[in-house]
Amino acid sequence: MKLGIVGTGMVGSAAAYAIASTGVISSLVLIDHDPALASAQAADIADALPFIGAVSIRAGDYADLEGAGIVVLAAGVAQKPGESRLDLLSRNTVIFADVIAQVQAIAPDAILLVATNPVDIMTAVTTKLSGLDPARVIGSGTILDTARFRVNLGRHLGVSPQSVHAHVLGEHGDSEVLIWSSAECGAMRLEVFASQRGCPITESLRADIDGAVRHAAQKIISGKGATWFGIGAALARIVRVIVLDQREILTVSSMTKEIAGVQNVCLSLPRILGAGGIEETLVPAMTQNETTSLGESARLLKNATDALWQVRDA
Ligand code: ADP
Repeated sequence: MKLGIVGTGMVGSAAAYAIASTGVISSLVLIDHDPALASAQAADIADALPFIGAVSIRAGDYADLEGAGIVVLAAGVAQKPGESRLDLLSRNTVIFADVIAQVQAIAPDAILLVATNPVDIMTAVTTKLSGLDPARVIGSGTILDTARFRVNLGRHLGVSPQSVHAHVLGEHGDSEVLIWSSAECGAMRLEVFASQRGCPITESLRADIDGAVRHAAQKIISGKGATWFGIGAALARIVRVIVLDQREILTVSSMTKEIAGVQNVCLSLPRILGAGGIEETLVPAMTQNETTSLGESARLLKNATDALWQVRDA
């Protein structure tokens, strides 16, 4: 399959490298507003190919996306000093309008995989502007937050995160919700497993893990300015699941008709991913508090998206 990446900054290039490593893509096309950057990223990643695997990679323009099955959208601009979040969103929406029109003119059926932050709102923007079936517009959402939750729990329990099942839902950001009530390890309820292991799930542990997951990105940003390897690898996982039709359950962002009393909002829920994109969305059993928090997260995203459209329509 041919895959395109639009926006080859830190996130786009890390995704390109990780996707090249999966071996499931035959051809990668890198596009950026700055063609010299896209060319340099393609040449740098091409240098790694003798060591990591065979894929054709090149910088190109939109015409080179002909036949692409998936296009990753990682283009965007950084917040200017003093700029409001809404102004930044408006500028990124202008960029997306241009990018999506150009992608769709040449690859109208490509699945669009959105990485630009705030990813839930940019996924809503992409759904609306593309007019695609919402199953084919996927935001990376809380896939990384869910992985961090599992890693933290696995560390506490002394087991591989692969043996832990737990989800982070809602916004990829401050209002995200760690769903403790349905967390499992080794097909046992989390609390039962933890008490047999002699490492109970205390309130202070919950608070520590909640903080570690919620603030993981800020911690990285304070040290190196941005995050890219984790999200790059997460995007590669999504790509592999789609290309191989693996039907894995991942917490990704997508337009959701109704959740916790909020309609038509993009946020993360557990979703079955396969060749067609999002095959099915699932809503786990939650406590009243978790449902309330998820509703608050959904409302916040809905309000922010509505505010963006009001600015655009004005
Ligand atoms: P991030 O850390 O999210 O990857 P960067 O600023 O490193 O952020 O990357 C964003 C990339 O998006 C930049 O390389 C920038 O040139 C690119 N970009 C901005 N506007 C457009 C556009 N209209 N079309 C294509 N790429 C764009």
